Amino acid sequence: MAVIYDRVALIGLGLIAGSMALAMREAGLARKVVGHARSPDTRAVAREIGLVDRVAETAAEAVEGADLVVLAVPVGAMGAVAAEIAPHLKPGATVTDVGSVKQAVIEAVAPHVPAGVHFIPGHPLAGTEHSGPRSGFAALFRNRWWLLTPIEGGDPAAVERLSALIRAMGANVEAMDAAHHDLVLAVTSHTPHLIAYTMVGVADHLKRVTESEVIKYSAAGFRDFTRIAASDPVMWRDVFLQNKEAVLDILGRFTEELFVLQRAIRMGDGAHLHDYFTRTRAIRRGIIEAGQDTAAPDFGRSPAAGETPKP
Ligand code: NAP
Repeated sequence: MAVIYDRVALIGLGLIAGSMALAMREAGLARKVVGHARSPDTRAVAREIGLVDRVAETAAEAVEGADLVVLAVPVGAMGAVAAEIAPHLKPGATVTDVGSVKQAVIEAVAPHVPAGVHFIPGHPLAGTEHSGPRSGFAALFRNRWWLLTPIEGGDPAAVERLSALIRAMGANVEAMDAAHHDLVLAVTSHTPHLIAYTMVGVADHLKRVTESEVIKYSAAGFRDFTRIAASDPVMWRDVFLQNKEAVLDILGRFTEELFVLQRAIRMGDGAHLHDYFTRTRAIRRGIIEAGQDTAAPDFGRSPAAGETPKP
């Protein structure tokens, strides 16, 4: 495949940036990828495993001469990183981010982006519960959505070039409004994560049960919750703090529904439960038909089902 950006700078060298580095290398999409992470430990690991072509000591140094700069740090850190790199950005360069929240990132980053530099906010809907420089893999974005929330008045050619890179990494690109993105993600990702954290927390409080039984008899439902609840605490703290309004809106609706189901159970209203579960089952079928998951046991996450295994 052809080179799309001559020089790419990745700020943050965790799951998402690492996967981008590997995907770009695999498909030959950048001539040189420079990376930076704030901790010496992460920089040392990145050098040891050859994650990028060069590991820079500072973010400012990493972005020098870069045609594309990717901010891949927790959403709460985006503003500070943008301020640090702003004076060093090459005129005509594109800055994008991969943050899970869009409105707050735009508010934090856009004011720092100099005239003549294109800022195109983005979010790959792909991830695992693993983090850090060793967690990336080239296939992470394959057949996943990558949402862009372009700023009004932005350059369509710059958006098209970034979209070409994303498609070449195997993902499908769609553009949407940032506020809409935040609401959709509150429903599909953020609130479900909060529910998983809560359920695992509940089990943890039931110490009598958890000593051994929760682990020993861990059924698929709880096991999946624990997988989600093992996600990076800093990333998820920031997601909830930065997408507060949408998450509180959806959480309010969730609580109301929960009370309705709680009442149906108390009243022995089996018809209500059956109807409800029939509707939810149809949603699962829709997700499988849309190719966003597999019907295989274990949600298709075992290597046998074709997904890349992670350590
Ligand atoms: P990750 O594996 O934990 O890596 C985060 C990187 O950010 C690390 O290199 C870390 O540096 C750096 N970092 C952390 N705090 C920082 C700070 N205060 N200032 C500067 N750098 C900092 O995270 P990730 O999963 O790649 O997530 C990166 C971004 O992608 C986040 O905005 C997240 O919302 C978004 N995202 C994540 C997923 C997912 O499922 N994981 C999916 C889509 C989008 P050190 O290693 O040196 O600490």
